[in-house]
Amino acid sequence: MQPGPEDADHDLVVVEDDGRYLRVSRPQARVLGALDGSCTIDEFSDRSGLPAESVRGLVAQFSALGVLVDAEAEEPPPPPPPKRLRFKEAGRLEFRVVDPDALIRRIVPFVRPLVHPVLIPLIGILLALSVLAAGVVIARDEPDIGLAFRPIPMVLLTVAMIGTVVLHELGHAVAVGLGGGRVRRMGVMVYYLIPAMFCDTSDSWRFPARSQRVMVAAAGLAVQLTLTGLVCQLLWLPLSPELQAFIIVYAGANVGLSIYNLLPLVKLDGYWMIVSGLDRSGLRERAIEAAGSWWRWPALGGERPRATPAEVGLALFGLACAIAGPALILYALWRYGDFLIDLGRIAAALWLLALMFAFWKPAVSAGRGLAGMAWAQRTRVLLVAGTAVVLVLAVLVVVDGTGEDSLLVSAWTDRLLPAWRASWS
Ligand SMILES: [Zn+2]
Repeated sequence: MQPGPEDADHDLVVVEDDGRYLRVSRPQARVLGALDGSCTIDEFSDRSGLPAESVRGLVAQFSALGVLVDAEAEEPPPPPPPKRLRFKEAGRLEFRVVDPDALIRRIVPFVRPLVHPVLIPLIGILLALSVLAAGVVIARDEPDIGLAFRPIPMVLLTVAMIGTVVLHELGHAVAVGLGGGRVRRMGVMVYYLIPAMFCDTSDSWRFPARSQRVMVAAAGLAVQLTLTGLVCQLLWLPLSPELQAFIIVYAGANVGLSIYNLLPLVKLDGYWMIVSGLDRSGLRERAIEAAGSWWRWPALGGERPRATPAEVGLALFGLACAIAGPALILYALWRYGDFLIDLGRIAAALWLLALMFAFWKPAVSAGRGLAGMAWAQRTRVLLVAGTAVVLVLAVLVVVDGTGEDSLLVSAWTDRLLPAWRASWS
């Protein structure tokens, strides 16, 4: 166990053998510290003055989390190696490829002298020069961007992007190493159906200063943008149209990825920068909970949520977060749609199944919730939910229209119907 930072909203950090961290309040930590097998729950309750029921509840929670070791066991089992495949949360499947700790330890001494506050304005200048270089080349030579989308440049571009993303992740890992932490897991993941890479930076939660954690979250983008900026400086040289197109597309892809990465609504770099800066772990979950309270109050009754600016802001952020996850999955499925429908019957059927699955889980959990309610309450919930659905559909129809170029109409005529036909023909 380690004490948390003075200004934090948590008190102590419990370090587990397999590299996970738990943040607990000081009273919880006191209970955890007393669980050394030397007394029973009732004895501890008498001694500490805490109700035995609360202590029992905490013990149950701690053992469910795997923090407690049975004192009767002959020898504590050795810590398990980090799992290769891990479902971190909804929409995220991680596959550990390497344990980069040894490599990071070797890199850190070389990077340490380079880390200096002056780096931030330097990266800014580099990026400004890059925009200028690209602007000059585009205005002067009008390069044909299509040249970069031929087979060989596309292969090279893919290799260059994978290399850049690997360096981005190493940036996070080295930042953890600079703070004295360890990185045990690095690999590839599928995040909301989009393939990506990950680097387990959970060690940085032990760092005492928020700025250190913000640095860990920002280090990946800093590396990626520096690399992009350096490559863009080549545009000042007299290059062939092919190379000019290649560099511009490479830079564009990196800028696009960086903007996506800054999206604070899902757990990507932008979110972690905010969470680290505010030092509020679980911000997304809390925000979604706050958003939920605004529909639970009219639907289920009970206490009206507080309408302070902070609470409303948190609820709006939570609403955006709650929409972002499913929206990303639907968007990815939509992008894969044409490609899969063209592959033939099985792929088209799989695509349709995946699309149904995206709606299946929320529908099932909503159905279970409804089944457990009394009649009057169920009617109220259905009324509120029905009104919300009608409102959303009305907004969609007004914004989107109903003609030939409507997204809703083309979704039906260009995607769903062809997929349905392809899966049967
Ligand atoms: Zn990153």
